[in-house]
Amino acid sequence: MKAQDYPPPVRELIARLKRMPGVGTRGAERHALWFLQHGRADARALAAALMAAADEVTPCPRCGFFASNGELCTACSDPARDNSLLCVVEQPTDVLPIERCGTFRGLYHCLGGKISALDNVLPEDLAVAQLLERVRELPGCEVILAISSDVEGEVTALYLAEQLAVLDCRVTRLAQGMPAGAGLSQADAITLTRAFEGRKGI
Ligand SMILES: [Zn+2]
Repeated sequence: MKAQDYPPPVRELIARLKRMPGVGTRGAERHALWFLQHGRADARALAAALMAAADEVTPCPRCGFFASNGELCTACSDPARDNSLLCVVEQPTDVLPIERCGTFRGLYHCLGGKISALDNVLPEDLAVAQLLERVRELPGCEVILAISSDVEGEVTALYLAEQLAVLDCRVTRLAQGMPAGAGLSQADAITLTRAFEGRKGI
């Protein structure tokens, strides 16, 4: 006798949910059952939101932050932004805590990671050439390196400072006070605001 199990579509749904970060077997099962019990409207709304996010969200062609349909992001297309300030972050998600603290009104550049011998990430794998190109187009600007303070972050910051030294710009680094070894996403708004205000030239 075969033991009872969920029908194949539910098993497939559970398997898909389980692949998401932070969702274990029990969590995936609970979410799948929630959809089954809440009828079609919620399931269809989630499916539509997933499809829209997958189809429409593209990296901003200038800075790499999240944008829609190949267009510039809201910061790059905002004429009120201060284009003499360029804040370099590792990942697009690092932009959000900075935006939420409301101190910084300049532009961003997302590197796409940091130089790492361990993970075999070289400068060529990051958006470094694009950064240098942007700085050439913004003579006299300040480039703020908002990169994490772990070993790989330090290596990346020093490499960028070296590359930027020959260009017409001032290079600064966020002040200490950021949690050691931590990324921007772990910083609270006050720490981040102070880190921006106390940034130093490198
Ligand atoms: Zn942008």
